[in-house]
Amino acid sequence: MNDPAVIEFPSHRAVPRAAVIGAGLSGLICAERLIRQGWSVTVFDKGRGPGGRLSTRRADDLRFDHGAQYFTARDQRFRDRVDAWVHDGIVALWNGRIVRIGKTGSEGELSLEESPGERFVGMPGMNAPARALATVVEPQAGVRVASVVPDGRRWRLEDERGGDLGSYDMVAVAVPSPQAVPLLAEAPDLASRAADAVMAGCWTVMARFERRLDLGYDGAFVTGSPLSWIARDSSKPCRPDGEAWVLHASPEWSQRHIEDEQDTVIEALTAALRDLVGTAAAVPTEHLAAHRWRFSLPLHALDEECLFDPERGLGACGDWCNGARVEGAYLSGLALAERMIAAAQRSPA
Ligand SMILES: Cc1cc2nc3c(=O)[nH]c(=O)nc-3n(C[C@H](O)[C@H](O)[C@H](O)COP(=O)(O)OP(=O)(O)OC[C@H]3O[C@@H](n4cnc5c(N)ncnc54)[C@H](O)[C@@H]3O)c2cc1C
Repeated sequence: MNDPAVIEFPSHRAVPRAAVIGAGLSGLICAERLIRQGWSVTVFDKGRGPGGRLSTRRADDLRFDHGAQYFTARDQRFRDRVDAWVHDGIVALWNGRIVRIGKTGSEGELSLEESPGERFVGMPGMNAPARALATVVEPQAGVRVASVVPDGRRWRLEDERGGDLGSYDMVAVAVPSPQAVPLLAEAPDLASRAADAVMAGCWTVMARFERRLDLGYDGAFVTGSPLSWIARDSSKPCRPDGEAWVLHASPEWSQRHIEDEQDTVIEALTAALRDLVGTAAAVPTEHLAAHRWRFSLPLHALDEECLFDPERGLGACGDWCNGARVEGAYLSGLALAERMIAAAQRSPA
């Protein structure tokens, strides 16, 4: 007898058809794994290009990694992939000097301690691994999926105008948790687990200075300031010349100011930089811009590799399931693909 808790594919179709919503790292990896299994996979992303929060902003000759700054590789499965990316020139080690700084004591002196570690970055920008995966996965850009609705034993995807985006045997929702919740509405148990993964906002300022900011380090985790991270983007390998810095506001500050105008945020965060590092930051700027991430990092991830309902053939993946980082997103997407493949293999021919 067949296992009732497994999706049944129509017997006339041997190749399962899947949709992946979101072309961030988790969605791309999930799709790539399914494609390698021989599945027919369609990936949709509302953005202009692949990568999601693994992203690089271009402005004239400038380039800023305004989302993920670097990544680490601890799990062997991810490590093997990172080694392959390094071999292919898609990723390299960032050998910048990274420190922890914070104001301490009643005089507000700046404390500084080293933060060594093996940190990888995309080349020439953080979105490089996503761009490489997109050559295999070929996501459809500029398509926002608004709903996932039952269609007999399959799922039909609709865009914001109710337009039909096709019917699929299985669907992987690979978007930040608050955006996943409405897409999982037909599986309330999954939707309510996704809702538990609360995500914090983050304001980012991108600044290029006329002269070198002489701080003696290339990146710093910051405490006791509206800022939580500052980095000399131009110290990463394969970046354009110039003194490009990325400033991230702390989750608390970002949340308090999430509806502020860009100009207000730029003013506040550059003032915070001057307050932190003193006259070294009084160098005139050539370029200033801000970006608001409404969902930057999970405040706490679920500690489940992914969410999947084999009965319905619907699942979700992303950094909010597991790990809260680039590595977690990768492993989550891979885990969901494996669960989908296992469910399909257990379904009747
Ligand atoms: C400011 C910032 C700093 C960070 N720093 C680091 C760091 O230093 N190190 C680190 O390891 N991680 C860092 N991260 C986290 C890292 O970027 C993420 O963990 C990882 O990129 C998440 O990948 P993902 O696939 O889960 O989600 P995402 O990258 O968010 O991908 C989701 C995709 O879904 C798309 N989408 C959403 N809704 C829809 C819809 N309805 N229809 C179609 N498409 C949709 C989006 O456009 C997006 O492309 C940082 C993130 C931010 C924002």
